[in-house]
Order: sequence, then C-alpha cells, then structure tokens
Amino acid sequence: MTKSLLYRDAFAYSPAPPTSNDAVSDRIRLLMKLRNSGINDTRVLSAIEHTPREMFVEEAFREHAYDDTALPIASGQTISQPSVVAWMTWALDVSPRMRVLEVGTGSGYQAAVLARMARRVYTVERHRDLLAQAEERFRSLKLNNLVTRRGDGSRGWKEAAPFDRIIVTAAAAEIPQPLIEQLSPGGVLVIPVGDNAADQLLLRIRKDEQGGLHTDKMMAVRFVPLVQDK
Ligand code: SAH
Repeated sequence: MTKSLLYRDAFAYSPAPPTSNDAVSDRIRLLMKLRNSGINDTRVLSAIEHTPREMFVEEAFREHAYDDTALPIASGQTISQPSVVAWMTWALDVSPRMRVLEVGTGSGYQAAVLARMARRVYTVERHRDLLAQAEERFRSLKLNNLVTRRGDGSRGWKEAAPFDRIIVTAAAAEIPQPLIEQLSPGGVLVIPVGDNAADQLLLRIRKDEQGGLHTDKMMAVRFVPLVQDK
C-alpha cells in the first residue's frame, strides 16, 4: 500500500493511482490546508489523500483541481469545494462496515472518497451523462464497492434500504421523507437545506434507536438545487 505522507497508521486503503508529481504535491498542500482548518480525522484525510480530484474535474480546470473551490462540471452542475466535502464526510462519521447512500453523484468525487471508507456506496444521479462519466472514473480507479443508479434520489433507493449513512449533495427546500424512512436506527443523514442558493444550512440529522430525530446545524453552504420529480 502507498505510505501516507502525512501521518502514520493510515488505513489499509488501496494505493493511489499513478498521477503527476504536480498533482501529488498540490494534493498534499490541500491536505495540509484541511488539517489547518481543523479537519484532523485520519479516516477523512486518508480517503481524500487517496482520491485524485484531478480525475473528476473538466480538462480546462485541471490545474485548479486542488484549489479549495467548487468547479463547474457538465449539465450546469458543480463538483463541491474540497473543504465542504471534508466537513460533510467528517459529519457523516463513516466506518468500514457501513452502507452509505449518496444523492447527487455529479462528478463522482464525493462518492469515490466515501468508497474508501465504507463497505458499499450507493449513489444516485438524475443526469445520465454525468452518471456515465462518473461510472467511467470509478472503473478506472477500480472502486468496486460503488453502485450507481439514474433517477430522482430524493426518493432514496428502496430496494437497498436501510442505510447506515445518507448524504445529499444538492440543496432541498425540505428534507425528503423517504430519506428519513430509509435511514437505519442509529443512522446519520447529512443534507444541505434551504430554499435559495444564498440561504442554505448544512444539517446533520441523527436517528436514535427509537426512531427519534436529532438535528445539528453545521454551517452555511451553497449547493445546486435538489431537483425532484413531480
Ligand atoms: N457529489 C457531487 C456534487 C454534485 S452537485 C460531486 O462530488 O461532484 C449535485 C448533483 O446532484 C448534480 O449532479 C445534480 O444533477 C444532482 N441532483 C440534483 N437533484 C437530484 C435528484 N433529485 N436526484 C439525484 N441527483 C440529483
């Protein structure tokens, strides 16, 4: 396995794919920045360290792959800002035996990060072309524990439910009820909620063993809208 440059005792993840020296040093710089901003969970840092973000951005933005910014992808969507991916991944608190649902595959970056931490990741995207590109990336990274589906992810993935963790990477006006229903007792849902782009809050919702819900407000965020079928 690749030795972590940042810390000892990294998880036994599969090696990072071969990539340019520039990309590697940019990635290390980003990891330092994430650590300085308070993200010190080694599971999260290691998963980001082993996920080449340059493979998930458009050719034209490749040199900005490790800037801490969201970037445009196809179909008018965006790949999330790395620090937001890191905080959401941290908030989700994933461990290796878990099954995770992601709504909003987009570039596939967040799903790829999660796939290094969970047993299996189910990811749903409404745009066919985005999903096809993401699937290609998963194949070339040999991420075999990712399952994809095209459709409206606000309905969840009933056949595969319940999930230990659910992450939504598009903003909803309200939390879709099927996602609450498809969350296991003891499960965690991380979702940006808000009517418009300027007024969204990232929420973490824990479902207790009795089915009670406990909500933490995490931070202000800016996501593309969750588009629900009628
Ligand atoms: N997680 C992504 C971020 C994608 S942006 C990444 O790492 O790149 C949000 C994505 O959610 C967009 O691709 C958008 O098409 C998708 N989306 C919006 N509404 C959706 C819905 N109801 N079901 C599934 N995907 C949806």
